[in-house]
Amino acid sequence: MEALVTTTRDVRVRNRFEVLRQLYRSGDVSRREIADASGLSFASVCNLVGELLALGVARETRFEDSGGGRPRGRVTVNAGYGALVGVDIAETYVQLQLFDLSLGLLASAGRDLHPEDNTPALVVSHVAAALSEALQAAGLERAGILGAGVSLPGQVQREKGVSVFAPNWGWHDVAFGDLLADALEVPVYLDNPLKASTTAELWFGVGRQHQDFAVITLGTGVGAGLALGGSLYRGSSNSAGEWGHTRLVLDGRVCRCGGSGCVEAYVGAPGILQHLRDRAPDSPLLRPDDQTASLNALALAADAGDPVALAVLTDTARYLGAGLADLVNLLNPEVVILSGWVTDRLGSLLLPEVRIAVGRHALRRPFEATRIQLCQVPEPVALGAGTLALEGFLAGIGAVTARPGAPADPAHLPTARPAP
Ligand SMILES: [Zn+2]
Repeated sequence: MEALVTTTRDVRVRNRFEVLRQLYRSGDVSRREIADASGLSFASVCNLVGELLALGVARETRFEDSGGGRPRGRVTVNAGYGALVGVDIAETYVQLQLFDLSLGLLASAGRDLHPEDNTPALVVSHVAAALSEALQAAGLERAGILGAGVSLPGQVQREKGVSVFAPNWGWHDVAFGDLLADALEVPVYLDNPLKASTTAELWFGVGRQHQDFAVITLGTGVGAGLALGGSLYRGSSNSAGEWGHTRLVLDGRVCRCGGSGCVEAYVGAPGILQHLRDRAPDSPLLRPDDQTASLNALALAADAGDPVALAVLTDTARYLGAGLADLVNLLNPEVVILSGWVTDRLGSLLLPEVRIAVGRHALRRPFEATRIQLCQVPEPVALGAGTLALEGFLAGIGAVTARPGAPADPAHLPTARPAP
């Protein structure tokens, strides 16, 4: 069970996140602006900013007149303080991104995973190779890495870094965090794509304007990341958001979770291809044993107006809309974001009919309060994983002093693109 203990230190860590989030949102901000935007008192903000400056995590930029008092600088993230790693491990690939502390991208590297080769040792070796490649490309030393956030499919016991169950790989209780930390020699923060993509939205996407939203991942697997009251909702055992395994059809299609009639069995990639098989068993769009290629072919055919492909998208949108309506009724979110690789390929084609279907099935009041849109954050899982590493690092610095040699300016890291 994840402990839910609120201590003075927890409050301090939470407030530190809040101050940092304002720095990430604004780039360059005064203490007064942080206080106004966060609701924290000016004195608390000065205190927390002072701590971040002393640690070297933040730095002051240009000074401004404070009306007779001591002139105070505007504050920004010290991008060069150290590097963060975000890793998106999916059923078919490993994508690794190396960031500076402001979550500006420094380098990235990827590896393909084959469905039959998925032992923990093999996945670890791919991540390690990708990290070495990214470090070399960025001209960085491993010692500069503050932590690696890693998203793994399936259910994850975050605090122990254990993959509880990865259904496509048949992993049960794999101590993946330890294996990876030994290989990478950096602190590892393990979670799943639902939590990672929602964290990316909280820091860099719709979370800048909205408190209550759901991030729907449509891929081989399906799930929802939930942000409630401006925070990621994990539930009592980090399992919140398994919406993909809620019941859409009683005694319906068998699901890979072992149940039947789950949302995922109708709107995950294999479920969508099953709609195609039901309508056209010999469709040339079906590529044997290649889900990704079949989905790509389906998307191209739908774009070209192929009637079977369009009918399959209508089937998918109807099931997806019905499933989302349950979520809208249950949570009353401001925004529902569609994300994941299936959304990348089919999202813009699905969206109009999904909106209609949600409207048909949801209650009017929550439906009218909900916007349904496609994800705008690039590579949200890797970025979110990097942000989880940032959060892990920030949570641990309560008793830590400034890193020796931490530079006051970002000169020792290459120029980064601005965080999205
Ligand atoms: Zn299921």
